[in-house]
Amino acid sequence: MSSTIAAISTPVYQGGLSVIRMSGSDSLRIADNIFVGKTAPSAMAGYTCQYGKIVREGRTLDDVILTVFRAPHSYTGEDTVEISCHGGVYLAREILKLLIENGAEPAPAGEFTKRAFLAGKLSLTQAEGVLDIISANGERELVSARAMRDGNLSKNIHSVAEDMVKISGNLAAWSDYPDEDIPDADTTHLGNDLSEIINRLEHILNSYDKGKILRQGIDTAIVGRPNVGKSTLMNQLLGYKRSIVTENAGTTRDVIEESVRVGDFVLKLSDTAGIRDTNDPIECIGVDLATEKLENAELVLAVFDSSEELTETDREILEKIRNKPHIILLNKSDLPEKVDPEYFFDKYILSVSANSGSGLEKLPEMIAEIFKLGGSTDSAEIYINERQRSQVQKALDFVRLALSEYHSGITLDAVTVYMDEALNALLELTGERATEAVVNNLFERFCVGK
Ligand code: GDP
Repeated sequence: MSSTIAAISTPVYQGGLSVIRMSGSDSLRIADNIFVGKTAPSAMAGYTCQYGKIVREGRTLDDVILTVFRAPHSYTGEDTVEISCHGGVYLAREILKLLIENGAEPAPAGEFTKRAFLAGKLSLTQAEGVLDIISANGERELVSARAMRDGNLSKNIHSVAEDMVKISGNLAAWSDYPDEDIPDADTTHLGNDLSEIINRLEHILNSYDKGKILRQGIDTAIVGRPNVGKSTLMNQLLGYKRSIVTENAGTTRDVIEESVRVGDFVLKLSDTAGIRDTNDPIECIGVDLATEKLENAELVLAVFDSSEELTETDREILEKIRNKPHIILLNKSDLPEKVDPEYFFDKYILSVSANSGSGLEKLPEMIAEIFKLGGSTDSAEIYINERQRSQVQKALDFVRLALSEYHSGITLDAVTVYMDEALNALLELTGERATEAVVNNLFERFCVGK
């Protein structure tokens, strides 16, 4: 079959432990060559581990724990060996080098999971679930990723696909044997059946936007006239040092400080760098409100000073944010209230003190409500990714075409053709009919060693 692959599966940094993983029919033989313990790895049972030494030309490289997984009861479905060594970068690389000298090949990114997919252990969407588990930044993302990994999305798609096959089957019977007495009922239900499929696909699609909000964060503008407490609020939000998102350091975003984590959400605060440099809180604020930043914002935090009467500028601001998702923050709640809260008709309004942070703890709940991410994280909603979205959308478009052909009442042949196309899109989604290019493209997004 395929070659035996090896890679360092833990991050290549100094740490407590590093794990080097090897998979393929030659793994146990290669392990025998380099490992010295009580028993040869090839004599070990699956799911067992053993303490021993990794030895190169009589010289010990490290003491390790070696674990054996026997085909087909491993992640990849192949014989697999995992070596846990001390977490040194040089050391882990030397052990990997030794495996390669003994016949293993360096594993390309995602190769272990790709093999699991090719061995039928995972569907394509389940493999994407694995990817999501690794990149999850919060509870909701993780719960969704686990559900996807457990196959809930595949099952969902499968059940839609099965119903589509039934519909196509009936249509085929009807169009292949038009002279036979196929009951009319089969086609009278067709309109309803297609509409129901459309509803189910739309429901799956809806989760995309929510997932995007969790994965990519929310573009947020803090607005308000001078002195209402915008910088103080910003500092308060940034102040929880541990909540500053640093995971993306050195990747795509140049100014990482501008993201803050609020509960399960990441708020991408506009132009924080500018704010810090000039000490002039958000220039986009105040009277100059009609800026691009506000227009692009997915969420506006509108700050007002509750210890003062509303000014003309305040009213202008309210007018400008009316059609944007927004939260009104009535700041300086520690001071006697002068503003009339009745003036704000908004549903999302919080009395806060940016100085002390009091009241801000309700922010995540409110954001969840605005973006319809309410409810407990136990009831796993699965947030589909871009690839999945585009496949579901494709299927949906074809089913809609099928429905409109059906309504046009001319012939059912076109309905059959569109249903086949829709089905193809779903099978490509789960991987049952995915092209090699689709599969390769997906696994390239994994890290090496996964
Ligand atoms: P900005 O111009 O909107 O950025 O406002 P600042 O953040 O610079 O705050 C203006 C003034 O309001 C400063 O003196 C802050 O200390 C004060 N301030 C901000 N938040 C609060 C608060 O929650 N309570 C009180 N009492 N003062 C606040």
